[in-house]
Amino acid sequence: MRQETKCIQAGYEPKNGEPRMIPIIQSTTFKYDSSEAMGRLFDLEDSGYFYSRLQNPTTDMVAAKIAALEGGTAAMLTASGQAATFYSVFNIAGQGDHVIASSTIYGGSFNLFNVTMRRMGIDFTFVDPDCSDEELEAAFRPNTKAVFGETIANPALIVFDIERFAKAAHAHGVPLIIDNTFATPINCRPFEWGADIVTHSTTKYMDGHDATLGGCIVDSGHFDWMAHKEKFPGLCTPDESYHGITYAEKFGKEGAYITKCTAQLMRDLGAMQSPMNAYMLNLGLESLDVRMKRHVANAQKVAEFLNAHEKVVWVNYPGLPGNKYYERAKKYMPDGTCGVISFGVSGGRKAAEEFMKHLKVAIIATHVADAHTCILHPASSTHRQMTDEELIAGGVAPDLVRLSVGIENVDDIIEDLDQALAKA
Ligand SMILES: *Cc1c(COP(=O)(O)O)cnc(C)c1O
Repeated sequence: MRQETKCIQAGYEPKNGEPRMIPIIQSTTFKYDSSEAMGRLFDLEDSGYFYSRLQNPTTDMVAAKIAALEGGTAAMLTASGQAATFYSVFNIAGQGDHVIASSTIYGGSFNLFNVTMRRMGIDFTFVDPDCSDEELEAAFRPNTKAVFGETIANPALIVFDIERFAKAAHAHGVPLIIDNTFATPINCRPFEWGADIVTHSTTKYMDGHDATLGGCIVDSGHFDWMAHKEKFPGLCTPDESYHGITYAEKFGKEGAYITKCTAQLMRDLGAMQSPMNAYMLNLGLESLDVRMKRHVANAQKVAEFLNAHEKVVWVNYPGLPGNKYYERAKKYMPDGTCGVISFGVSGGRKAAEEFMKHLKVAIIATHVADAHTCILHPASSTHRQMTDEELIAGGVAPDLVRLSVGIENVDDIIEDLDQALAKA
């Protein structure tokens, strides 16, 4: 199946007389004929369902669709993108370990790593995604367990050199984890460039309709945990909390990582996506290919319009020739990147604030990456307590406006921006 077909059909194949749509199995628990049959599930001897905190048929079908879209071997849904990011790292790193992450990752991921996970005893080194080979090499330590980056950084729109970072990670015997939220598997498949694990905030383009919070983790099935046994004891030595199972032996490269993540982290931390949310996410996935193509086409036209506008000082969009990441974006995302653009309004903070007041089609929201065009001026909203100097030091220019181009008629979006810019 090609991507367009997978969006519609992957993950669930109805048998004779079964429902065409993925059924919502809204049940916390599942019935068995004997306690022995249930015991075999608990021992991971048989596969099946016993409690929806760990696994549920609806969420599994939707996860399988995302695994097919990414070209992976196994996947699991989580309650949010944050939970997916946390599990993806915590599944292979613990107290005393170290992880390398791109310094331009999503703010929520940065805070999770830099504050909360540090408190758990995991150390992080943040590297500039465009750092030199020497700097990258110097970041690795004997206790490094993973490298983490984002295909297109939210909101900086920096395109990550996946192939380069995958080679460096593999040279040190550790996997590369990629947050592929902004590109989606329609525009980029990180496994084709050497990434080992992919994470998503499905809250963004995958759901696509501002309806459901969610996350997903996908395993490529490529990373050979047993070849680096000493680094990954959690996968390569018996799990006493699971009757002495050694995940990498029992489930192989294809299944060990996600099985452990489900059996241990979902069991103990429980950030499970509900079957109802998974059903709604699946509706979004069915149109993902069509929507991403429209997002990209609309954003390209809007970026070109803004670039030519006299009241716009600068435009950041990887699809614009002359953008620092234009060539790299063409390599990793030949069909386009995403719908998010940032730009500066001439006249700085005050002018941008005035511009925001006159918008009619673009909705003011902190959210990005969905069907509705939405817009944010951090200096007059989320960051309003900061001075211009503080904003510049924090990498958020006072004139910066972040625009997430939706799938409305592009002329309506452009006319709206034009009339609001005229009043700024
Ligand atoms: C939104 C986002 C997240 C966090 O996802 P939630 O679903 O909000 O928890 C993680 N990574 C990226 C790139 C995001 O845009």
